[in-house]
Amino acid sequence: MTRKDIHRLVRPNIHTLVPYEAARHLMNEAAVFLDANENPFNSGANRYPDPWQSALKEKVAAIKEVPAKQIFIGNGSDEIIDLLMRIFCEPDRDSIITTPPTYGMYKVSAAINNVKVIEAPLNDDFLLDVKSTLQKVKTGTKVIFLCSPNNPTGNVMDGQDIEMILKGFDGIVVIDEAYIDFSTTTSWLQNLKKYENLVVMQTLSKAHGLAGLRIGLAFSSDLIISLLNKVKPPYNISSLNQKAALNALEEGTASTEVPKIIEERKRLEKLLYRFKFVEKLYPSEANFLFVKMTNADTIFDYLKAEGIIVRSRSKVIKCEGCLRITVGTPEENDLLIQKLKEYGQ
Ligand SMILES: *Cc1c(COP(=O)(O)O)cnc(C)c1O
Repeated sequence: MTRKDIHRLVRPNIHTLVPYEAARHLMNEAAVFLDANENPFNSGANRYPDPWQSALKEKVAAIKEVPAKQIFIGNGSDEIIDLLMRIFCEPDRDSIITTPPTYGMYKVSAAINNVKVIEAPLNDDFLLDVKSTLQKVKTGTKVIFLCSPNNPTGNVMDGQDIEMILKGFDGIVVIDEAYIDFSTTTSWLQNLKKYENLVVMQTLSKAHGLAGLRIGLAFSSDLIISLLNKVKPPYNISSLNQKAALNALEEGTASTEVPKIIEERKRLEKLLYRFKFVEKLYPSEANFLFVKMTNADTIFDYLKAEGIIVRSRSKVIKCEGCLRITVGTPEENDLLIQKLKEYGQ
């Protein structure tokens, strides 16, 4: 797709939108700020935050090896999903495609924005059905959301399948890589140059251990990033959160924690295999295991009564009888196994 093609996908009201010009957009450095009606006395947070999160973005740019102008920071990935919907999808007219079973937020966000959802289910191996997905594209289908590694199934989508969607769809392709740091596959970030319509989403909520800060990342062509910047609330990331995220990335705890979590995932996998009630363990490239059990609902309730909460996906298409279990600390995982042993071999 060319830049012109992408411009054509944008809602007309977003095209003509004149974005709010916040005080700190105009002037970010000065000796005296008398422009934004802030309280002048230092509280540590009396000033409005940097609307462009420049310091944090520079750090992310260095880590991910993507130019800062191709990075957008959202108040969690959820804000990015919502903004994409509002940039490209005309309510009550346009549609998105999702590939269930997958992350539920794409659908919810579409419903909030009154955007239609076309579902193109994954096949029985939880891989993309490329042909049927592309066949489902209609006039007004603006965005396809793909998730790899996928939540809740934990598997990575086939690279050639994704490539076929990128080539065959005249719209925006979002690849949600929330779990990429737990995976052995390479990120789609290296294909940003090749595809103007590609948006790669990552987050600091999982591998980086900062779910409480709400920092979602989008990487894309500078055109799509500029559209996200145009539509976002001016001060979408608080100054305290920008600082905390920057500090955490500088400390780099993910580099030691992620290998530990992967090791625990492998240990947990071996231990879970031994239970008779475990019917199937899906191979995971994420920080959770997707487990099919003979009596998932009973085990869910039992664990809950024992104070251990896992996620039931039992009611989700193609996930009947499945629980999603997040990998915890070694102690937490031991407790899970102990409780399951008490339940029965
Ligand atoms: C956890 C998760 C996210 C992260 O969302 P945040 O809003 O950044 O916390 C995004 N996508 C998927 C598929 C997830 O599972």
